[in-house]
Amino acid sequence: MSHRTVKDPAARPSAARRTVMRALVYKGRHRMAWEEVPRPALAAPTDAVVRIVKTTICGTDLHILGGDVPTVMPGRVLGHEGVGVVEEAGTAVRLFKPGDVVVVSCITSCGVCARCKRGMPSHCESGGWALGHTIDGTQAEFVRVPFADGSLHRLPQGVGEQEGVLFSDVMPTAYECGVLRPAVKVAERVVVVGAGPIGLGVVMTSRLHGPSEVIAVDKDEHRLEAARALGATKCVENAGGARVVETIRALEGGEGADVAVEAVGRPESFELCAELLAPGGRLANVGVHGAPASLALERLWPMNVTVTTQLVDAVTTPRLLRMASAGLLDVGPLVTHRFSLGEVEKAYEVFSHAAEERALKVVLSA
Ligand SMILES: [Zn+2]
Ligand SMILES: [Zn+2]
Repeated sequence: MSHRTVKDPAARPSAARRTVMRALVYKGRHRMAWEEVPRPALAAPTDAVVRIVKTTICGTDLHILGGDVPTVMPGRVLGHEGVGVVEEAGTAVRLFKPGDVVVVSCITSCGVCARCKRGMPSHCESGGWALGHTIDGTQAEFVRVPFADGSLHRLPQGVGEQEGVLFSDVMPTAYECGVLRPAVKVAERVVVVGAGPIGLGVVMTSRLHGPSEVIAVDKDEHRLEAARALGATKCVENAGGARVVETIRALEGGEGADVAVEAVGRPESFELCAELLAPGGRLANVGVHGAPASLALERLWPMNVTVTTQLVDAVTTPRLLRMASAGLLDVGPLVTHRFSLGEVEKAYEVFSHAAEERALKVVLSA
């Protein structure tokens, strides 16, 4: 796969010598600030420092701000998605050099611990979901990426920098947690509850597996329009209540869903997915939850169903990038709003009112 390199990174005005930068810092529940912080430097020979070119805001960031992710401490630079240029690479980094244009994976993978070797870098013993969580993240001018060889991907030809940010998290999460984990098969009926960026990613990537139906469910008609444009065969506006279950069942020919994907992160959408399952069905939870959801075992116990949960491992990122590079996966329509990096707080405002703003993914440019 061919890739891009910025020819002369040293030509930019002394970026490598700067000791401070601006970044979006989490200040505790519902508080954040775009402020000056120390510019990250290499801390280990396996690190790279990446100058951010594009970044974005994830639903997970809103969950962090809402207090749903208590492992994020005040003072943390948020963000786990980005495309940038390698500024510095540690002496042990073999695959990347200054000037390389890269996608920063939301998952940091050492590649050698027991969990990485099991193909589960989401729970890497010295990485996993670290960026914008337990170490400083990508909503910043620069980011330190540990284990650069396992945690960066070259941006291939044919994939724009803006589209590239969708491969940090959205597309691998959608595909791995919403399609591969519940093992969507040919001619199956898939229901996707929640047509935000991740749900839409599930609509797009489930179609790679040949389902007979992909039914998108959301409260928002604009998101359903997007779902239809991206390959949903049917759309259901979810006004709440029992009617929605009847409506979806009717669309499925009364049989229930082989795979129901929860892509919202709320108890009621998880419980709706459980109600929609056909015997033998799989409920794939993709959403980030901050409250318990109930599991109707009194009804589900004889139904041969499976509930899957997963944090993205981001092991399919190279494959998905290759699909995009070949023109087989167009993620462009997922980007609806653009801001400069300095407008990040405004971008949060828009993204947190996604329905009114008709926002899917907001991309911030340095
Ligand atoms: Zn994310
Ligand atoms: Zn590891």
